[in-house]
Amino acid sequence: MRSKTNILNPDLHDYLLTILPKESEHMRKLREKTNLHPYHPMQTTPEQATLLSWLVTILAPKCIVEVGVFTGHSTLAMAEALTDDAKIYACDKNQEWTDYGYEIWQHSPHAHKVNLTISDGQDYLNQLIQSELLEKVDMIFIDADKPNYQSYYELSLKLLKPGGVLLLDNIFLMGRVVTDGDEKHTARNIRELNSKIQEDPRIKPCIIPIGDGMTAIYKL
Ligand code: SAH
Ligand code: CA
Repeated sequence: MRSKTNILNPDLHDYLLTILPKESEHMRKLREKTNLHPYHPMQTTPEQATLLSWLVTILAPKCIVEVGVFTGHSTLAMAEALTDDAKIYACDKNQEWTDYGYEIWQHSPHAHKVNLTISDGQDYLNQLIQSELLEKVDMIFIDADKPNYQSYYELSLKLLKPGGVLLLDNIFLMGRVVTDGDEKHTARNIRELNSKIQEDPRIKPCIIPIGDGMTAIYKL
């Protein structure tokens, strides 16, 4: 048998959920409310939220940028692990969705660490690149419009400090990265980006097959 990553069957997945570190009350309420939202499959999975929280704990970033908040599950997971003097600059273009979650997480004792802006993600990153945050950002989480990931990647590499970490979510496109042909521009774009990342001398990447696939990138 080839050595390969285990695809979790439903029993293993249920078991995984029972051994994750316990989530906070605010995370639980937010996750449960979001599960009632028509677009709930976009929410980061509990194991992804755990990974984000763990990364924030070990990296102790002072400044995080997030593009793609939805109802705030990933945002709150990171905020809870941040020190009190650190900030998340979070951006989403859909205020209806961020409001849906903000009703819950505004009551979290960690909400003050989040600076939420309603804007297009590329405009937002370009704006930050023009600000004093240029090359000061410790960690970036990209989880927004997939057709623009190549642009998000380049903008993020500019914005990050050397030694900073970039996370890109949904790099498998729910399997479409292998099933869609080149006429589907989202799949083509993500394939191009995944190949570029493999050879980019500016970074050291690691593909993590968690959720819909997450690439973690260290900026050299
Ligand atoms: N990280 C979230 C899930 C994000 S879902 C969680 O943990 O639950 C993807 C989000 O990207 C959606 O909320 C959508 O509004 C946002 N988005 C899509 N296109 C965007 C754009 N051009 N600029 C900013 N946000 C965008
Ligand atoms: Ca995602």
